[in-house]
Amino acid sequence: MVFKKLKMTYLYYKTIKMKLVFNSLFFIFCFFSYLDSAELIGKFEQGNLIVGKTTPGSKIYIDKKQIKVSKKGFFVFGLNKDRKNDVAIDIVENGFNKKIIKKVYKKKYKIQKIEGLPKKQVTPPKEFYERIRGDNKLIGKARSINSNLSYFINEFKIPIKNTIITGVYGSQRILNGIPKSPHYGLDFAAKEGTNIKAMLDGVVTLSEIDLYYTGGTVIFDHGHGVSTLYMHMKDIFVKKGQKIKQGEVIGTVGKTGRSTGAHLDIRLNWFDVKLDPASVLKLD
Ligand SMILES: [Zn+2]
Repeated sequence: MVFKKLKMTYLYYKTIKMKLVFNSLFFIFCFFSYLDSAELIGKFEQGNLIVGKTTPGSKIYIDKKQIKVSKKGFFVFGLNKDRKNDVAIDIVENGFNKKIIKKVYKKKYKIQKIEGLPKKQVTPPKEFYERIRGDNKLIGKARSINSNLSYFINEFKIPIKNTIITGVYGSQRILNGIPKSPHYGLDFAAKEGTNIKAMLDGVVTLSEIDLYYTGGTVIFDHGHGVSTLYMHMKDIFVKKGQKIKQGEVIGTVGKTGRSTGAHLDIRLNWFDVKLDPASVLKLD
């Protein structure tokens, strides 16, 4: 009887132990399937946009700063032009923590020399300083919007057809021998009046016909801080607050603002981080 009781206790103990083993195995299993639940799309290269998907309800921190996660689990962030440090992505879901460290690959940037520009194009006259400050404020405000839109998960499309690229992201410009800040846009050669199409669904957050540097300018919000900007436009067909579909004609190519000639210059931003538009476009 005593023996039987002991045996029972032993069996009971064994069951508990099995349960514990099973539970910890189950725990490990859950943890790993959870680890698999964060996907990242985009190359970890300087100037690139990275889109991620995690389990809805999770929290995401990029370099310890929390970013927005959509209801379906999508999130997005951008890598600075000169970023050298690894990116730390922290995922928190139901009390589980996971850290992903990603190396950022370097991009080679071109040096672009432009000579013989009129002096006022190289350094703006003092009387325009206030206007430029005002323009920058407007642009900065549009770029700081952190909306819940999630258009950024879709594929971008080229804004003009049958064109060639005449200026790339990150190229250092030396104007009349003076090194200037890098060019953050992607330039497309096109005749004045050529239709410009929206690269992605978005909401217009800025529509200005005459900014000092960028001339006719339109900014779209694509959600979570992702914005695109079109500049030097001749005509603008969209208004602030309007929702635009990908492929819709938003205006025409011009040479407004400080432009060396008719062309379209587009920009891609993640808040105040200026990104490479080529990183989201299929260019051939
Ligand atoms: Zn440009």
